[in-house]
Amino acid sequence: MANEASARPDTESLILTGEPALEYQPLVDLASGRLLGFEALLRWRHPDEGMILPSLLLPWLEANGDIVQLGEWVLAEGCQQAASWPKNIQLAVNLSIVQLRRGVGSSAVAKALELSELEPDRLTIEVTEHALVEDVAMNDLRTIGGFGVELAVDDVGTSWTSFDVLRRMAVNTVKIDRSFVGSLEAHQGINRLVVETVVSLAHSEGISTVAEGVETSLQTSIVREFECDAAQGYFFAPPLPIETAASLANEPGYCFALEGVGWSERKDEEHAEATPVAHQPFTFGERTG
Ligand code: C2E
Ligand code: MG
Ligand code: MG
Repeated sequence: MANEASARPDTESLILTGEPALEYQPLVDLASGRLLGFEALLRWRHPDEGMILPSLLLPWLEANGDIVQLGEWVLAEGCQQAASWPKNIQLAVNLSIVQLRRGVGSSAVAKALELSELEPDRLTIEVTEHALVEDVAMNDLRTIGGFGVELAVDDVGTSWTSFDVLRRMAVNTVKIDRSFVGSLEAHQGINRLVVETVVSLAHSEGISTVAEGVETSLQTSIVREFECDAAQGYFFAPPLPIETAASLANEPGYCFALEGVGWSERKDEEHAEATPVAHQPFTFGERTG
């Protein structure tokens, strides 16, 4: 907590001069390589510091409650962009435990869906396992599920998740944390077992699985061997600026290579086209207004 306190003034001054932005990381079907959709990831665009990552922003935003407003902006902006993509392309958005605890995650989702007219079944809300152990958060999550959006549990394996809870909360997808996926090659034993077990337990409950942080062709082939349904990671693509994401989304049936060279060796000429879409401005309301 001392770290959080000492990071406060820095983050606050960074935030007062920059503006929020989203990057979009592709989600890839492991049977076909097809682009399934994107996860929207929060950044803070600062004129001098460049793109600031959520690891610096989130502790501060969650501690002072600003995540509520910023989380609304993320949903509104992400849904607006996704509504302009072909209907088979999904969007995933992370929700903070703070939004759910305050019972305002559901109103933010409802508002974003209404304004963007995005079909609810094209939106996945990602939460961490902590959201599944607090009653108030679970109530808000149930309301969100009632809108017809999909629910995903993020970073699975890092904490304790009961498949009983996943079933009762009607979770659609579990995302296996990259700490397991990233070490599949080096550690043949326990991490393989975790990935394989999570996939088979999830499938036995009708829950789909995503491997996070896939960086190599070999990791891709291992998670395919375990019958993981989908993957995300630098091997396929890093989080992308909206222009690149939109150009992939608009390419009918876009497929990623499942073996051989990854994104970083192939990207240059392929995805230069930009497809700008109107941008939702953001202000912190009474904090900065
Ligand atoms: P996450 O939801 O698990 O998102 C995946 C993170 O893994 C992203 O980090 C992404 O850039 C990174 N990643 C993807 N592929 C690879 C890979 O192959 N190797 C490695 N080493 N990393 C990879 P990022 O963007 O820094 O986000 C970190 C976390 O911040 C997210 O983890 C999520 O929990 C949170 N977050 C991001 N955006 C939002 C948001 O809009 N709202 C909330 N509440 N949380 C957010
Ligand atoms: Mg996530
Ligand atoms: Mg994750």
